[in-house]
Order: sequence, then structure tokens, then C-alpha cells
Amino acid sequence: MTEPLAPGSTIGILGGGQLGRMLAVAAARLGLHCHIFEPGPAPPAAEVARDLTTAAYDDAQALRRFGESVDVITYEFENVPAEALDLLEGCAPIRPGRAALAVSQDRLEEKTYLAGLGLAVAPHAPVDSLEDLEAARERLGPGILKTRRMGYDGKGQVRLGPSDPSFPAIEALQGAPAIYEAMVPFDCEISVIAARGIAGETVCFDPGQNLHRDGILHQTRVPAAVSKSVAQDAVFAAARILSALEYVGVLGVEIFVAGSKVIVNEIAPRVHNSGHWTIEACVIDQFQQHIRAIAGWPLGDGTRHSNALMTNLIGEEADAWHELAKSGGLHLYGKAEARPGRKMGHLTRLTPKE
Ligand code: AMP
Repeated sequence: MTEPLAPGSTIGILGGGQLGRMLAVAAARLGLHCHIFEPGPAPPAAEVARDLTTAAYDDAQALRRFGESVDVITYEFENVPAEALDLLEGCAPIRPGRAALAVSQDRLEEKTYLAGLGLAVAPHAPVDSLEDLEAARERLGPGILKTRRMGYDGKGQVRLGPSDPSFPAIEALQGAPAIYEAMVPFDCEISVIAARGIAGETVCFDPGQNLHRDGILHQTRVPAAVSKSVAQDAVFAAARILSALEYVGVLGVEIFVAGSKVIVNEIAPRVHNSGHWTIEACVIDQFQQHIRAIAGWPLGDGTRHSNALMTNLIGEEADAWHELAKSGGLHLYGKAEARPGRKMGHLTRLTPKE
């Protein structure tokens, strides 16, 4: 086992959005510094971190300088280019490791991997042509055509009912390799935020129930309205994935619940929007847990002490900050411009634990 990073060490974070920001705040609480690498201007994470590199992910010199200035490298989004990681690998340990990134970057590889672990996934087929899509629709019925790579918040997806034509759907993906998934008739969507430490110990937060609006997470409610056995199966699925990947850090596992069945939709090798409620409702939250894990520290107590409802503030919703501040744990991400669909902050309300 490698030595834990002492306070005063530096964590490199690829990506400077709100997840990076909340990671940097958590790191600061443990006396650790952060260095943010982000191509875009005015990254929210840089306001609370010691160092910032503004450069593209193909800027080898900037990447090397960044890599050599930090003690461990982590990321707040899963689409980090493989070439950037090739370069960084020699500089400092990358946690979570590259296997998790490779699996989560490609929806087809992800489903194949998860099914190989004995976990249920949506029936699916790879689609590279109109013929593939027609054959997949014939076999799987109504479903969703998704790009294999780079999709998030419902982007790069086309829903296809029985009477929808295939051609415009294929055309919309502009030749990107795709996957067709059968529509899962789920009762609800839940997610498990789970962590694995460097010595292999795991800690799972209670599953949260997720409600989406326009393809974007709207609310997470904890506890989820599922049976004890479904909650347990969901936690087991997350733990199975963590140990199979020899994972270090926090992982988000998105799950469809259909009756008593737990179907894994996708994994995110990072802290997750549906885990923000842990900041107010748990002794140690997902951000602390991730920093502890990647720094080689003991994991903390993820026990939930309250029920929670987390609501994302999208676009102009955050303009009501003055009112919202009266009603719960308000988080604003410091983004200057409230574009439609942009996550500007979130609010967590607690109630006594059932
Ligand atoms: P994803 O980008 O895969 O997380 O999909 C975004 C949202 O679309 C999910 O949270 C679900 O609400 C819905 N969705 C995605 N895939 C399926 C599926 N196979 N069956 C039913 N709903 C789905």
C-alpha cells in the first residue's frame, strides 16, 4: 500500500466545474491543496483552489507541468481524453484508475462489462448503420438510440417509438458509433454513491431516488421509495463494480428499478450530482470521501442522519437565491451566466430521519 498524502500535499483535478469546486472545498478541509486543470475561462473550481492551469487537453507541455506539480490526479468528468491520461500517467497516480474511465466512456463497453459481472443491464445492440438500427428495433421494440461516447444529461439521444422513422435518428447522430437500448419500463430511478479506499474497504451511501426533467437531474430524494431488498441489491451492485475495477474514489451508479429488479443504467467514475445531498445529510459527504480515498486516507462514516431532498437550480432558477437561502442548504456555483439548462446551484432540505 502506498503512503497516505500528508496535509500540505496537492491534488490535481481535471475539470473545473461545480464538482471540482466542491472537491476542492472538501480537500481544503483536510489541509490539502488543489490544482485545477481546465480549458474554459473562469472555472467555478478555481475560485476555491490554490492553483489553476488554463490550457487545452492536448497541450502536452501544460499537462506535464500540471502533472509534475501535484501528488495525485483525479477528475470531475469522465470524458478526459485518453492521450491526456497517457501523458499524465508518468507524473502522478491517477485515481480512480484508467479502467473505470475506459469502461464509462463507451456505453457499449460499459454494458458489456457490467453484464460480465452478472449485473442486469437494458437489452441493447450496437448500431453503426441504418440497417443495424432497423434490426435492433425489430428485435428490441421501442427504445433509445444513444451515442456510445460523450453523451450526458440526455444529450446525443433519440427516443424511438413504434411509428418513428429510423433515418432521422441515425442522421441526428452524424455518423457517431451508437447503441440502441430497449426502453426499460422502470418504476423509479435510483442511484448509489459508493466509495472504495486504497486498501479495498468500501462505504456506500443510502440509495437516493432521482427525478429528471428535460433529461437533466431535477431532484434526489433520500431515502428512495424502494423495498429494503431492492436497496440492498443496489448497494451490492455498486460494491461489486467497485471491487471488480479495483476502484479508488467515489463512484456513482445509476439504476432503474422495475418491480424487484435492479437494472444498472450507467456508472460515473466520479462524484455525482445525485450525491450532493450527502453534504448536509451525512457525517462524511461524497466529496470528503473521494478526497480521503484518492489521498490514501481512511474512509469516513457515510451514515445518513436525516432525510434529504436535493433540488438542482437550473438556469434562472438560481436567481431566487434570496428566498431559497431561507429554506435549506443553498449552494451556488459562482457561474456568471445563467444559460438555459445550465446547473447554477442546488438546494438541500433536510427532514428528520424516518
Ligand atoms: P442516460 O444518459 O443513459 O443516463 O439517460 C438519461 C435518462 O433517460 C435516464 O435517467 C432515464 O430517465 C432515461 N433512459 C435512458 N435509458 C433508458 C432506457 N433504456 N429505458 C428507459 N429510460 C431510459
